[in-house]
Amino acid sequence: MDSMTSFGVQSPHTAAAAVALLVANPHAKLIAGGTDLMPNLRHGIGAPDGLIDLNQIEELNQIERSGQGWIIGAGVTLSQLATRADVRSELPLLAQAAATVAGPGHRTVATLGGNLCLDTRCMFYNQGQWWRESNNFCLKHGGEVCHVAPQGARCHAAWSGDLAPALIALNASVDILGPLGLRQLPLSEFYVDDGAQPLTLTPAELITAVRIPSLRPGSRSGYRKARVRGAIDFPLAGVAACCVVSKDVLTELRVALTGTNSRPFLLTGTEALCQQPVTPELLTALGKLVQKQVNPMRTTGTSAAYRRQVAAVLAQRLVGELSVL
Ligand SMILES: Cc1cc2nc3c(=O)[nH]c(=O)nc-3n(C[C@H](O)[C@H](O)[C@H](O)COP(=O)(O)OP(=O)(O)OC[C@H]3O[C@@H](n4cnc5c(N)ncnc54)[C@H](O)[C@@H]3O)c2cc1C
Ligand code: SF4
Repeated sequence: MDSMTSFGVQSPHTAAAAVALLVANPHAKLIAGGTDLMPNLRHGIGAPDGLIDLNQIEELNQIERSGQGWIIGAGVTLSQLATRADVRSELPLLAQAAATVAGPGHRTVATLGGNLCLDTRCMFYNQGQWWRESNNFCLKHGGEVCHVAPQGARCHAAWSGDLAPALIALNASVDILGPLGLRQLPLSEFYVDDGAQPLTLTPAELITAVRIPSLRPGSRSGYRKARVRGAIDFPLAGVAACCVVSKDVLTELRVALTGTNSRPFLLTGTEALCQQPVTPELLTALGKLVQKQVNPMRTTGTSAAYRRQVAAVLAQRLVGELSVL
């Protein structure tokens, strides 16, 4: 990695002040835990005109639990989500997803907001400047051709955040603060399938919190991920599932995926699998749905065919396990 260039850091005390700083300096970049941003800057990806540090903003650190559900501030750390007893018992998929992100040291500073806004990944992009330069760069940064799909006109870098699928399976929405005020958006609509620009944040906007509606009684959930190094790695494929099984019948099922497409997404067609017991045939049908909707490309050292298959198997195993809890 290259050595860090110098830049100024401002530390506002409110989210509104952070937005005002972004309006005043559109080329500044937000920093929370810095565990995604800093390696990218040291790889020469991006050269912001100053950093706006979110760590002094107390309002981003709230965790509220009420009859309506949960409100979790964007500044809450992943180690909090992974270890809090109430999150582990009520939202196991979120705690499990948080526990799989990076290493323990990263998780003590890495935040929910940073995880939902991290950059996409591709083996032709997450490299040092000299490496990318020797490949004549690529469409996403400094070049004109995508090395993964040279005939195409878009970047296929993979969305590899672990928390988004868990929160999409929970039907969560995000609070977004910007110059025009606060807006809320279902998290599933926060992302677009474009590896170069997967977030729908407009300039000077930031995420302040995530809202998770109350779960139906009897909900069961979990998160599973395949990765090259079990101790610390981004997902080759990650699957979150939230389901209700009543008297052995699957009555509700939401499945969301990461690592395979340029955005995390909710699997469609799962309603057709409900109102029946979880049988091997049902799991086969689930696997087929996954295989149809994932779109892994040659963005990791592992083959796209493997990631397609492993995504389906993870989903089948997870829903199978949840149905017999
Ligand atoms: C070795 C290593 C392994 C990793 N493994 C994983 C992994 O397995 N899974 C995974 O998901 N991630 C992984 N990561 C990436 C990263 O650690 C996590 O995604 C982490 O949650 C990022 O959060 P952060 O607070 O550190 O974000 P930062 O690095 O501070 O920010 C990331 C991006 O989000 C923006 N941002 C931050 N907060 C907000 C906000 N509130 N509103 C709008 N934009 C915001 C920043 O401007 C920046 O663009 C890994 C990183 C490393 C170095
Ligand atoms: S998918 Fe293509 S454009 Fe995107 S980062 Fe990889 S090589 Fe670059």
